[in-house]
Amino acid sequence: MSDTTVDRANQTGNYDFDPCVEINQGEASSGIRASFDGLLQDAPGCSTSIVNGLSQQLIHQMNLILPDALVSFDELDVELEDAAFPFLQPLAKQGLQQAIQERGIKMSINSAYRTIAQQLLLYRWGIDCGYPVVALPGQSNHQSGLALDVADPDGWQPFLEHHGWRRLGDFDPPHFDYVGEGTQDLRDTAMLALQKLWNKNHPNETIDENGGYGPQTEDALYRSPAMGFEIAA
Ligand SMILES: [Zn+2]
Repeated sequence: MSDTTVDRANQTGNYDFDPCVEINQGEASSGIRASFDGLLQDAPGCSTSIVNGLSQQLIHQMNLILPDALVSFDELDVELEDAAFPFLQPLAKQGLQQAIQERGIKMSINSAYRTIAQQLLLYRWGIDCGYPVVALPGQSNHQSGLALDVADPDGWQPFLEHHGWRRLGDFDPPHFDYVGEGTQDLRDTAMLALQKLWNKNHPNETIDENGGYGPQTEDALYRSPAMGFEIAA
């Protein structure tokens, strides 16, 4: 379940990795971020910043389910892409902060926390937007608040690796995972957050609050509003 503490040092191999560099390039070249107030199933590509409203609700709801599951690192010396949410688990943030302090320069970040709404769009848009085959919502390691894609990964590698982060490698050059102890697998919590928000807004059409990703939850996610639900926590 969502509150299980896991040692991810030996679990990284269980995660489905998306080649982040292609996703980040697609996001960065998506041009104007037009506002869109429809459902995810109709959202025009290719920037996931189109679901920022819903994404913020999902992150907030996760923190209500598990207090301080995700903390903002916005106040650190970082520069963020439009679709990047500056959230990590507390210990991962601490490691990031120490790495930035040690190197003493600003870090440019292409992607950190990615919500299940963003992941669904990446999955749906796929190759039409130049994205690689990406994981289904709930499977990406960016949904646990333990992943970062950084610019200048060669430069940052020694500093991040001093402080609990590990570079994934050639397969996905900008991607780092936090592998220190004391973290949690938040992917079920991310799904539960959507299920709770959906049920609050659809009392006559409720879905199971089980933290899993099945056809019912996928259908609800596709029919969720990009700008966020009317009723939020
Ligand atoms: Zn990544």
